[in-house]
Amino acid sequence: MNEQAAKATTPELASNIAALETHLARFRRDGVKHFIAGESCSSSDGGTFDVASPIDNLPFCKAERGTADDIARAAVSAKQAFKSWRQMEGAARQEILHAIADKIIEHADEIALLESYDTGQPFRFMRKAAERGAANFRFFADRAPQAGDGLALPASEHMNYTVRQPIGPVGVITPWNTPFMLSTWKIAPALAAGCTVVHKPAEWSPVTATRLAELMHEAGLPPGVLNTVHGFGEDAGKALTEHPDIKAIAFVGESATGSAIQVQGAPTLKRVHFELGGKNPVIVFADADLERAVDAAIFMIYSLNGERCTSSSRVIVERSIHDAFVEKLADRARQIKVGHPLDPATWLGPLIHPRHLEKVTSYFDIARDEGVDVKVGGRRPEKPPTDGNYVEATLFAGATANMRVAQEEIFGPVLTTLAFDTEEDALEIANNVPYGLAAYIWTADVSRALRMSHGVDAGMVWVNSQNVRHLPSPFGGVKASGIGRDGGDYSFDFYMETKNICLALGDHRIPKLGL
Ligand code: NAD
Repeated sequence: MNEQAAKATTPELASNIAALETHLARFRRDGVKHFIAGESCSSSDGGTFDVASPIDNLPFCKAERGTADDIARAAVSAKQAFKSWRQMEGAARQEILHAIADKIIEHADEIALLESYDTGQPFRFMRKAAERGAANFRFFADRAPQAGDGLALPASEHMNYTVRQPIGPVGVITPWNTPFMLSTWKIAPALAAGCTVVHKPAEWSPVTATRLAELMHEAGLPPGVLNTVHGFGEDAGKALTEHPDIKAIAFVGESATGSAIQVQGAPTLKRVHFELGGKNPVIVFADADLERAVDAAIFMIYSLNGERCTSSSRVIVERSIHDAFVEKLADRARQIKVGHPLDPATWLGPLIHPRHLEKVTSYFDIARDEGVDVKVGGRRPEKPPTDGNYVEATLFAGATANMRVAQEEIFGPVLTTLAFDTEEDALEIANNVPYGLAAYIWTADVSRALRMSHGVDAGMVWVNSQNVRHLPSPFGGVKASGIGRDGGDYSFDFYMETKNICLALGDHRIPKLGL
């Protein structure tokens, strides 16, 4: 990395690399450890795996490779801690979660630098992602005191009322695309609800998960309330989904992994919450504000390296404006600056892993084979900033609905356009995919916006907007994009059980058998 610092092309990049190095030194020396029962620890069998940065694919440290025994240790710790964490006053949990948010803000630059180095995501977006992590804790902190509230359901002779109680220790399994933020999005509501957590972070980006666990404990989280076990999906991940003391699994990742987890969790009747893949449509009518629609479509596909579940991967445009709209998209896509992710000027960094690079670039060939117009990109940059997993921002124009580029989640900076003639046609194309996560509708006609919103297969619809999150609103998908909703009270529905208590108001009739 010092060598890279020497090659840094701007003072800002050099300064970020130097700052990163101060935070990275301990990981280079000690590796990325598990965090169980409030302590940093190694795997039971001494196993580790290499951690590499997408900037150069060279291993920079080792991470612990968790086993079923490590998961069992973490589950025992979470079960033990659950006894007191669930009893703690909501206001006390609120205070601790706010202290965690404060810690995250205090260390936001460090988190952003480590995340950017570990994932290849541009630093400019990772600073915001760290702040969003803190916001997740604050939001759920303030809901902790009321999390157990229920309903009064009076009947003539009985008073029924409900309370909500935490389900127990839960497992959280996260992907590599924005690992820090996504981990907080799951862990914060679980803790606010009174659950304890065993977290299995993605093996391609483990670093900030360990940092999160440390900061949370520095902020006053009692030992065992959050336990972090690194490792691979097929061993640590699988063991977590099978453990009898883990009552629910909150999972973010690929649809196929979601199916596997459902099977693995069946014998222990796991409750599951899945946030899975997407192939999200952006439907643009000729009457829309086209400049804003271009801004939003470009932002949603080329930010976060296109490794974003709610990305605008399919733009479905009214035929009369399709070609002109494609030109506008192309003009912008050509300007997307590929660069070193730690350079604050970079918009597009290297993809997470050589295997993912291979997947994304395979679609360049698929598009050509399918006869799609590769309008922009469709190749790797000629002069990449480093020897990493870089691709150019890519635009495939004029696909048809059944082509693979219009059907499959590419999960990279690759946008595909399609043309439609009528509203029905637009909906038919939009819904003709296995996924149903997010949809974006652009039109000046309010009634049409509502008709389309009701008709599109998606858990979330944004009208005349990019994805702007409002934390009380439900987040989640339909079809192969997921099961369940997060956000606001929806998160508590998952992490809590509703109990009904029925109290007789007087001497109502009780049947007398056996008299
Ligand atoms: P992935 O499914 O390969 O891995 C996700 C996590 O699951 C990792 O921690 C992995 O180790 C673990 N895992 C793998 N196999 C497992 C098994 N058998 N049992 C238990 N755990 C297992 O996903 P990924 O490639 O890391 O992430 C990219 C995917 O995530 C994309 O499809 C993307 O759309 C999706 N995603 C969805 C959302 C959403 O909110 N809907 C958000 C972000 C990412």
